[in-house]
Amino acid sequence: MDALHTHPQQRWQIGDALMSDRKGVEFFKHSLGPEEIQACQQVLGATFLTTGPACKEFEEKFAAYLGVGHAVTVASATQALEIALTALGIGPGDEVITTPMTFIATANAVLKVGATPVFADVEPGTGLLDPEAAEAKITGRTKAIIPVHLYGNMCDMRRFRQIANRHELAIVADCAHAVESRRDALGSAEQVEAAVYSFYATKNLTCGEGGALATQDTGLAERFRKLRLHGMSKGAADRYNGYYRHWDMEELGFKANLSDILAVLLITQLAKLEDRLQRREEIARRYEAAFTPMPEIDFPRVPQGSKSARHLFTIWTSARDRFLHELQKRGIGVAVNYRAVHLLTYYRQQFGYEPGSFAHAEDIGNKTLTLPLYPLMSDGDVEMVISACMEVAKELY
Ligand SMILES: *Cc1c(COP(=O)(O)O)cnc(C)c1O
Repeated sequence: MDALHTHPQQRWQIGDALMSDRKGVEFFKHSLGPEEIQACQQVLGATFLTTGPACKEFEEKFAAYLGVGHAVTVASATQALEIALTALGIGPGDEVITTPMTFIATANAVLKVGATPVFADVEPGTGLLDPEAAEAKITGRTKAIIPVHLYGNMCDMRRFRQIANRHELAIVADCAHAVESRRDALGSAEQVEAAVYSFYATKNLTCGEGGALATQDTGLAERFRKLRLHGMSKGAADRYNGYYRHWDMEELGFKANLSDILAVLLITQLAKLEDRLQRREEIARRYEAAFTPMPEIDFPRVPQGSKSARHLFTIWTSARDRFLHELQKRGIGVAVNYRAVHLLTYYRQQFGYEPGSFAHAEDIGNKTLTLPLYPLMSDGDVEMVISACMEVAKELY
């Protein structure tokens, strides 16, 4: 009870007081508050703790928000990727083209279903998978492309759709950073066989751990629902309603359904997404204005004709590791999103990748550094991050 009665706002204030002594800025603070706590209490007083009415309500509202027919909640985006690939019939012997400039989950999911991830290089100015480089990697075994909308900036999906149509490939979009994104009048879930979302702790829409699949295809949506729960013909909520009827198992699925306790947290946040994005947009623009005149610091550009979800703000700077440690010394929370996947030990050992394989992704992977970006940052926090960056740049270069 005590934890529930400590208002999150109070905790932030306590946190801020501590932080202001240390003169620093946290890397991330979530925005869940009293409304989410109350919604959670309601679930605890009702019947369903597992996948039930709250998951269903969120799925309907999320599909409407994305402008597609169906959304299916799951336990993580990683499992959503595995389910999407499985539902599309992708497995051993198949190749899936993706980017090395992403979180490991994207490529790992391909390996988990028994297929082979084939990397293609990214565009130097955005860090997004380059459609031409991807097309050049297509072979007779290629079954799908997984574009990743890095940092909230969408890939050129009109190009990817043309390429996929020409070669009869499926597109599974990794939209973990891209709930609110649009480009060339397309939302992140449109014109793809499956779009995959993450509700991991630091994502724009979060319940700590969770994910979703979105699709326009009713048949695929049904497969996703079945595959997320063992391949059973009925979920718990269906089994609960009405007289007992036997369920069946029709294919080997995953255990990847989401709990109603978590789903309610997502419902309340949907209505606040655009307001929160507006604050991140303001902060990101302030960063861009401050860093544009600085030759020591570059940053990825938001593609023309697009609305960025502004999930992460990264800068590119040559002495990245020293820069990062100097920021940490000044109390600024930082992260690296990401070092190129193909150069991580497992991928080097399994596939024999060496530096030089994907020049642009490697260059970004060596220079990238993520700064704090979240709606609860004050203007003072933003200025503190900027002046720390200026100070460090002066000291190092
Ligand atoms: C967070 C993330 C994932 C994985 O999400 P989980 O929900 O933690 O499985 C996948 N891809 C990208 C690009 C991510 O940032």
